[in-house]
Amino acid sequence: MRVIVVGAGVVGTMHAWQAVERGHEVVHIEREAEARGASVRNFGLVWVGGRAGGAELETALRARELWEGSGARVPGLGFRPNGSLTLVTNEAELAVARAATELPDAAERGYKLLDAAEARALNPALRGEFAGALWCERDGAVEPRVAQRALKDALLASGRYTFVGGREVREVTGPGAVRDDHGATHTGDAVVLCTGAWLGGLVRELAPKLPVRRVRLQMMQTAPLGEALTTSVADADSFRYYPAYRGEALTALAAAQQQTPVAAEHKMQLLMVQRADGGLTIGDTHEYAEPFNFDVVEDPYEHLGRPLPPIRHLWAGVYAQCVDPGRVVHRERATDGVWLVTGPGGRGITCSPAIAETTANELGW
Ligand SMILES: Cc1cc2nc3c(=O)[nH]c(=O)nc-3n(C[C@H](O)[C@H](O)[C@H](O)COP(=O)(O)OP(=O)(O)OC[C@H]3O[C@@H](n4cnc5c(N)ncnc54)[C@H](O)[C@@H]3O)c2cc1C
Repeated sequence: MRVIVVGAGVVGTMHAWQAVERGHEVVHIEREAEARGASVRNFGLVWVGGRAGGAELETALRARELWEGSGARVPGLGFRPNGSLTLVTNEAELAVARAATELPDAAERGYKLLDAAEARALNPALRGEFAGALWCERDGAVEPRVAQRALKDALLASGRYTFVGGREVREVTGPGAVRDDHGATHTGDAVVLCTGAWLGGLVRELAPKLPVRRVRLQMMQTAPLGEALTTSVADADSFRYYPAYRGEALTALAAAQQQTPVAAEHKMQLLMVQRADGGLTIGDTHEYAEPFNFDVVEDPYEHLGRPLPPIRHLWAGVYAQCVDPGRVVHRERATDGVWLVTGPGGRGITCSPAIAETTANELGW
């Protein structure tokens, strides 16, 4: 089989990976010279802990296994099973963490409630006063700025993979066939459009009522910390944004405690992961109303408590998210021989290996 994959973000790259793994030939077309969308702008968190129970958690756990497998074969993508700590500072937050450890699937996530001393033993870089932490052993991380390129190099080594950069796919010309903006036609047995948050143009023509929305986030990266941040770290505002944490304890937390004004204004949770060079990637804000601001603003970073190394990079990114929170991804047969896969939202890094595996199974690759 010959598969045409459009879009070289993580979703497209994982589809290419699945097809090549199954012995097929892949032509991978990307509008930019290489991936430039959400897939290189994120934390690189393989975040199992925050996922909703059921299909979403199953997808994340399967994807975590696949990341570990490809990470062992492609060390350049930087997979590490570093786990995460969500720090809690008072009784109301502690109650949400405790309730999480009592979920029926808590063991699958590797949840454990730690006191402050146990959390510091796992991650000695933690400073200040806090009451404890929710440890999620199954969380991991990759290096988003280089992961796609590392996977691409491994795919090229297979001899069954061709990367066509700098070409925008404009038109479907027949079953399994597309034309790019240089006038070249690419023909295969299947086309998979993994075009991320670009919902206009060809995607709108093919799927005018796509059930996804776009979300913009701000991020920053510091100079090296000068010590190891051995786990990823989240603050208790994360309980408000991740679907894993529902129920009475969260309702009580929301009633007892407002987010700080800047966190509420930017719909923030604080997530932090250490990069391979020792710098910290820190975010994230959420903006839902379009047109999005084009500025990267400073005030979310005044929210950070601990003295930090100087900020080296500031950027924003946009992802596409299924409007139905119960859907992990939107996958549809757009027309004969052409499938569209988009909308993994803030879990695209976490889930894409398993999303691509499901596409491959459903299409009989
Ligand atoms: C700031 C931020 C932080 C995030 N943090 C995390 C995280 O820690 N963990 C997690 O699991 N998820 C995270 N996410 C979500 C995750 O990054 C996305 O879900 C994922 O990257 C989406 O991948 P994609 O391949 O669908 O899209 P993209 O990475 O946007 O890739 C789409 C590609 O398609 C190309 N393209 C579009 N149209 C065409 C065309 N017509 N022809 C050719 N090429 C085309 C684009 O140029 C682009 O390269 C975050 C997202 C953001 C923005």
